[in-house]
Amino acid sequence: MISFNVPPAAGNEIEYISQAIGLHKICGDGIFTRRCSKWLEEQTGTAKALLTTSCTHALEMAALLADIQPGDEVIMPAYTFVSTADAFVLRGAKVVFVDIRPDTMNIDENLIEDAITERTRAIVPVHYAGVSCEMDRICQIAREHHLLVIEDAAQGLMASYKGQALGAIGDYGCISFHETKNYSMGEGGAIYLKDPAKIEEAEIIREKGTNRSKFFRGQIDKYTWVDAGSSYLPSELNAAYLWAQLEVADEINTWRLRCWEQYRQLLTPLAEQGRIQLPTVPEGCVHNGHMFYIKVKDLEERSLLIRYLDQQGVNAVFHYIPLHTAPAGLQYGRFHGEDVYTTRESERLLRLPMYYGLREDQISYVAEVLYHFFDEKL
Ligand SMILES: *Cc1c(COP(=O)(O)O)cnc(C)c1O
Repeated sequence: MISFNVPPAAGNEIEYISQAIGLHKICGDGIFTRRCSKWLEEQTGTAKALLTTSCTHALEMAALLADIQPGDEVIMPAYTFVSTADAFVLRGAKVVFVDIRPDTMNIDENLIEDAITERTRAIVPVHYAGVSCEMDRICQIAREHHLLVIEDAAQGLMASYKGQALGAIGDYGCISFHETKNYSMGEGGAIYLKDPAKIEEAEIIREKGTNRSKFFRGQIDKYTWVDAGSSYLPSELNAAYLWAQLEVADEINTWRLRCWEQYRQLLTPLAEQGRIQLPTVPEGCVHNGHMFYIKVKDLEERSLLIRYLDQQGVNAVFHYIPLHTAPAGLQYGRFHGEDVYTTRESERLLRLPMYYGLREDQISYVAEVLYHFFDEKL
């Protein structure tokens, strides 16, 4: 069976975890956390990168830093993971969904302005599959209407938009290191802060509402409770695991891009025969091979194809059920405008096996099975 995902392991994970144990420092913010943060800051150019216990928690931190209040509105696509919405719903906000673009599955930047009301506080673009949203337009709208931009860049590490790293473009950026992402620490994530003036507040929220981070840096001689906060810092054991991958991030990225390109080349004739559609990467966007998806005719064809692939030993999976159709989406959100693409395109989308370590012959085999299903010749 060719798995859909295998969590990344680059080789030095056990060694680094042992080092953390040997240093008698397994709680958060030790040397591995610092190495990872510094690497992220250098890689993305963000003012500050803080490791978190998940991207979900990074989004929660962003909602707290943005001071989202009950009744505020936040604009996002409905084609996303639940956490994108949950973080704001926890603060009492109303989620306003707008339709996506069928080419990238990202929020349609041209539909955002119409969804803005006097209660709107933030736009939350989700960079699906590590392919950027139209950030120039989104940031321009945000500037004109005095809104914050909080990027859900969970899938976006090593990807960029016009030379800027995803997550480091808006006011806040949220990254995931879940085991399904390109770089992992089991469960974990990071928040990027664009404004250096927000660093202290973010450190306090992340450390249970205390100024412990300042204390550890020797800037104060005892720490105390200064604000409302929670515990959003991951253990050094997780950071040590992550460091082993960030250290060889280029190698992992190159591997994934090679897989992605092989799929694209092998499947282009099938797309030209009109059987499937391949993903689009707009000009100016550099992606990271997070995902290779195809689109088929409809939900029925996709179900048949998933079953067929499974019988042939290939684990391919669909993705998000649009949030506005879920019970909580109905309760906490509303869809502004018409759902032209969100539901229809989500029902056509199928993700093929993709992970660091996936081999060329396995990709060729997946392609072969796809051609066979459509009764075409590879
Ligand atoms: C994975 C993912 C998340 C959640 O990440 P966790 O680290 O598991 O909390 C949020 N948004 C998107 C778009 C994701 O892909």
